[in-house]
Amino acid sequence: MFMNATMQGYRKNGTQWQPKYIVSLDAKKCIACGKCFKGCPAGVMELSSEEDDEENEIMFMQLVKDGDCIGCQSCAMVCPKGCFTHME
Ligand code: SF4
Ligand code: SF4
Repeated sequence: MFMNATMQGYRKNGTQWQPKYIVSLDAKKCIACGKCFKGCPAGVMELSSEEDDEENEIMFMQLVKDGDCIGCQSCAMVCPKGCFTHME
C-alpha cells in the first residue's frame, strides 16, 4: 500500500499543505451521528451495527475503504467524540 507521510499538495495560491491520511476510527467512542459519513469526499466510512449481550442493536461507524482516503481531515473536524486518528 502506498503511504508517504511527506507527500505535499498545493493550494490554489501555490502554498503547500500536507495530506493527513486516516489511520483508525475508534468505534467504542462513536455515537453514530453520521457527520463524518456526510462530510467524507471519498466514501471511506460506512454505518454498521452489532448486537450487545442484551440483544440491543448498537450502531457505529467503521472504515471500509481507508485506502481511498485523500487526507483532508474533514472527518476529524466534524466528529464530536474525537474518534479519528490520522497520520502525522
Ligand atoms: S481524511 Fe477526508 S477522505 Fe480521509 S476519511 Fe477523513 S474525510 Fe474521508
Ligand atoms: S462523526 Fe464521530 S461520532 Fe459521529 S458517526 Fe462519525 S465517528 Fe461516529
